[in-house]
Amino acid sequence: MTVNSAARHLRVAIIGGGPGGLATAIALTKIPHVSVTIYEQAAVLREVGAGISIGTNSWNVLQLLGVADTLTSGHPTWAIINMNARSGEEIDRREKVRDETQRAPVRTQRTKLQSALLAHVEPGLIQLSKKLERMLDKGREGVELHFEDGTTVTADLVVGADGIRSVVRDTAWPGYELSFTGTTIWRTLIPWDDVKELDPRFGTTGWWHGTSSYVYFSPVGEGLWEIASRSWQDPALQSADKKSWGVPVENAFVESHFKDFLPQIQEALSRVPQGHWREFAAFAGPELAQLTAWDSKVVLVGDASHALSGAFGSGAGFAMEDGWILAQALAYWKNDISKALPLFDTIRLPYYSRMYAHLAAEANKRAAKLKALANPTYDELVRNRIITDGGEDMSWIYKNDIGAVWKDWVDTQ
Ligand SMILES: Cc1cc2nc3c(=O)[nH]c(=O)nc-3n(C[C@H](O)[C@H](O)[C@H](O)COP(=O)(O)OP(=O)(O)OC[C@H]3O[C@@H](n4cnc5c(N)ncnc54)[C@H](O)[C@@H]3O)c2cc1C
Repeated sequence: MTVNSAARHLRVAIIGGGPGGLATAIALTKIPHVSVTIYEQAAVLREVGAGISIGTNSWNVLQLLGVADTLTSGHPTWAIINMNARSGEEIDRREKVRDETQRAPVRTQRTKLQSALLAHVEPGLIQLSKKLERMLDKGREGVELHFEDGTTVTADLVVGADGIRSVVRDTAWPGYELSFTGTTIWRTLIPWDDVKELDPRFGTTGWWHGTSSYVYFSPVGEGLWEIASRSWQDPALQSADKKSWGVPVENAFVESHFKDFLPQIQEALSRVPQGHWREFAAFAGPELAQLTAWDSKVVLVGDASHALSGAFGSGAGFAMEDGWILAQALAYWKNDISKALPLFDTIRLPYYSRMYAHLAAEANKRAAKLKALANPTYDELVRNRIITDGGEDMSWIYKNDIGAVWKDWVDTQ
């Protein structure tokens, strides 16, 4: 990193205290002449949802942030299986190559990641109950932020880390629209002891697929077991009432989507205590042409910048990578936002473009395979949901080394 004394002082307002906002704050406080405040709408910082995967890419950035050693719990995911939920057939098994130089990929509780990040955020940087309502471009003065409680502040740089329904993005990128993908997700954690006798395969991280739904089972460490179940419905018919994010839902409603699954799967679902399920409706939005706006006074990180609805199961990693790269770009250009933000775009935009292109290509591949089947059976439809022909090498995501990406860019200069 370029250490400099001539850097201008920069007032940075981070909107949102999720993984993206917290990681950005940690990275920015390591560079000179930057004052950082996180504005978070919630009165108490808490994570909804159940588990989260920390792959090599996420470990790499956690290491750079100095947080990796604080995140200690989780279940190693060396093997991952894909099963037919009605017949129990194992369709695909991936064994990850063990690399002793790397931290093991783990599935852990979302709260564990959040508290590890929080432990490294300097005290006093987070202001809670600060819901951003609108912002105004004040030219050379900066950006004026208006909060729901009637207060305002002015910042030189606004980091929109406010998630998929970002107010920052909707203000600086007017007309951006999200739409319901058709997928509803129900998630919970229960004690592993409550289900472990049901099927020995439940102890391995895996997906149990139906034709338009699946359940995902994984241990997450500390004696807990995660269930993340999904069901797809035609978004054209279902979009109107699909706004829920982390809301409680009745057990019977969740279970009704998996009535044709194996009895032991249905039994596992029935053992979830009433009131423990949370529902998440997955929304997505189009690719942005730029991640920065308002003459480099606004930048988006994490879900706000790429509304992919958790498509790669690594969005927290992407959000933390964004925050770390933003800090390197600012340090490199001595806090000159007119140079640092285009550099952020140069590094991160092509990465997100590649994700959008990958998802479109996979969808086309699936559609072509489906078309080739005359009257597909249930089992053929299930097999078609899983890319078993090798697929694309995904190491550009799951093994991404953001430190090396930055070094490569610096070396080209
Ligand atoms: C079902 C599912 C499974 C996933 N699994 C994984 C996984 O295994 N691994 C992984 O890495 N990622 C996973 N992800 C993705 C990951 O959860 C997100 O990518 C990640 O949380 C994004 O972090 P973020 O900080 O950008 O946004 P968020 O986590 O959404 O945080 C945004 C924050 O901004 C706050 N906020 C919002 N609006 C305002 C406002 N107006 N004013 C002030 N504050 C505001 C919110 O309260 C929130 O705290 C998954 C996502 C889904 C949906």
